[in-house]
Amino acid sequence: MRLKAGDTLILATHNQGKLEEIQTLLSPYSLLINSSGNLNIEEPEETEDTFEGNALLKARYTVDKTRHISLADDSGLVVPALDGLPGIYSARWAGPDRDFAIAREKIHTLLGDEPRNAYFVCVLVVAWPDGTSKVFKAESHGTLTWPARGENGFGYDPIFVPLGDTRTYAQMTKSEKFRTSARAKAFKLFENEMLGRV
Ligand code: IMP
Repeated sequence: MRLKAGDTLILATHNQGKLEEIQTLLSPYSLLINSSGNLNIEEPEETEDTFEGNALLKARYTVDKTRHISLADDSGLVVPALDGLPGIYSARWAGPDRDFAIAREKIHTLLGDEPRNAYFVCVLVVAWPDGTSKVFKAESHGTLTWPARGENGFGYDPIFVPLGDTRTYAQMTKSEKFRTSARAKAFKLFENEMLGRV
């Protein structure tokens, strides 16, 4: 199953940061892109306890509503010193207003100033109207740093320094972040299997 030029693809997200990154990654392909946010399709409750489960749930929900091929992203920051939290709860730690300064400060309060290992996980699921789906998963490892630095990116980017760099993701351009980011790596797997250069 591959996507071809002219296919409609619905991105199953209301998250502006994710949307911008996925749109950039998809820009070389002649797909007709829309998003569940733009179509006013509400987000389903994330009731599963894995990234894969929640990504599948979001992709299936959107394909069932639109009858178009849908791509969902479930992702988050895993901190081993916090037993894997915030993990699948990464968005929920930012509260109902999705204020990530609050979520970042929560981690800081729990861990203190010492740099800690952490990694982003990104799971992409593409789902078709016939009920089939495919899963692509990747990670990006690095260190948490305080105070938060940088204005770019979103979510936890201002406190995350990827391995091999000294800047946070929020201090990088999109294309610099894409060299190591979990989303760009998962997208590469998706791209290799699902997309042909057009
Ligand atoms: P969910 O996948 O909708 O449950 O949300 C995951 C949350 O993890 C997002 O709202 C972001 O705050 C955070 N997150 C996911 N990917 C990234 C990233 O690349 N950088 C920073 N934060 C991220």
